[in-house]
Amino acid sequence: MAAKRMSLRDKYNRMTRDLAWDFSYQDPKKIFEQADFEGIKIEDWDKWEDPFRLTMDAYWKYQGEKERKLYAIIDAFAQNNGQLNITDARYVNAIKLFLTGVSPLEYMAHRGFAMIGRQLPGVGPQVACQMQSLDELRHVQTQIHTISHYNKYFNGFQDFRHMHDRVWYLSVPKSFFDDAASAGPFEFITAISFSFEYVLTNLLFMPFMSGAAYNGDMATVTFGFSAQSDEARHMTLGLEVVKFMLEQHPDNLPIVQRWIDKWFWRGYRLLTLVGMMMDYMLPKRVMSWKEAWEMYFEQNGGALFNDLARYGIRMPKYWEQTVAEKGLISHAAWGTFYNYCHAAPFHTWIPEKDELDWLSEKYPDTFDKFFRPRYEHWAEQEKQGKRFYNPSLPMLCTTCQIPMVFPEASDPTLTSYRSSVHNGERYHFCSDGCKDIFDHEPEKYVQSWLPVHQIFQGNCGGATVPDVLDWYHLRDGIDNREYLASPDRANWERWKAGEEEAAELPKAAAG
Ligand code: FE
Ligand code: ZN
Repeated sequence: MAAKRMSLRDKYNRMTRDLAWDFSYQDPKKIFEQADFEGIKIEDWDKWEDPFRLTMDAYWKYQGEKERKLYAIIDAFAQNNGQLNITDARYVNAIKLFLTGVSPLEYMAHRGFAMIGRQLPGVGPQVACQMQSLDELRHVQTQIHTISHYNKYFNGFQDFRHMHDRVWYLSVPKSFFDDAASAGPFEFITAISFSFEYVLTNLLFMPFMSGAAYNGDMATVTFGFSAQSDEARHMTLGLEVVKFMLEQHPDNLPIVQRWIDKWFWRGYRLLTLVGMMMDYMLPKRVMSWKEAWEMYFEQNGGALFNDLARYGIRMPKYWEQTVAEKGLISHAAWGTFYNYCHAAPFHTWIPEKDELDWLSEKYPDTFDKFFRPRYEHWAEQEKQGKRFYNPSLPMLCTTCQIPMVFPEASDPTLTSYRSSVHNGERYHFCSDGCKDIFDHEPEKYVQSWLPVHQIFQGNCGGATVPDVLDWYHLRDGIDNREYLASPDRANWERWKAGEEEAAELPKAAAG
């Protein structure tokens, strides 16, 4: 008699949950040491319904197939000199920002999900976290492989991992993930899977991937789509885990709401870099930051939080603030990088005339009034050979670590500035959102590794800009500063003029 085929559900249970066992001689509290301290109460882990019912066997098959397709396209891109088909060499700076700022977070996500897969007592989420941990390792690898092609032709990519731990603006993404990874397992999964991946991920992937497609970068589009197909699973995990906590015990609601408030704000502040990329770094624009925020947060996010209202969850605290400043943050950020790009491993520039007009049109209430005159002034100075680099070091927000450059939404001629005193020391913040986060856990944030403080304390290679750049492994005049004067631009102009042979390839990284 032929064996009866198992149902998908039975098969899934056999290959995942049924592999678990009850502990007979060890105290479960000792095995899952982090399960209780955050205050989350789970009464029955078996109530966890797996959204995907994916066995490891099927997982490896799907992922293997994706990898084969991805690497075939990346090979073709490299063999056909795909880098020559992008719109303009300025575009490559968006990819530098991605590699230095985002890819190391994928690796941190790999570590984080491995860690919480070990710490969450339920078998269902353990399996889901294990798969996500593997996905994230795949993401960082595919990104490095893709972007390594650009490293052969453009400057600034060669030492991205070293830079992630040292360069001032990279402490913004780095501290975001360090904050999550040093929390407990329930906060980590709420921070990353729900607040970032479910609520905000479209605002990261859409602009980078559509931006790549619009600007002829098929290599980046390919890893983007490959990662996004995992993202659907990650987003569902985020939503399921939040609903599960809320269903398990009423005491969980205020804790989860506070995490959503905190991580929405931290994620939103991190996305300032993405807003700047959309409005300034794509030679061919997709949409403005303001439009993206309206579509992906105000509309889609609004609908999500309406749906969660039945669990008692409300919109994240200070969401109104994000709407009030949507016409300001990307311009404040680009202006800052324009000032300080002698200390960043990518180039900045003043937008061209038609690009300034595009910004005026997309930001009718703010751009002409507060930002355009400043750019026109800097452009004039640049023409006179006095390209402006800011010689000072800015004060940083203790929570998000962004320089204090955000305008006050109610009066954009003022800087948004808040502060708190803790144990007799004053700490500075860019916003009410960042101040709240600090005030709730000051013992955590007084430990922040703030790059400017570290430079002043002598921990970053020395007291002068050249000392600090050496410590960053940043090659002055090659990796940094104004685009117009950069070797990247000079090479690009020669390649486009058909003088590929004459182009200088980047020299090996210093140090
Ligand atoms: Fe990822
Ligand atoms: Zn802040």
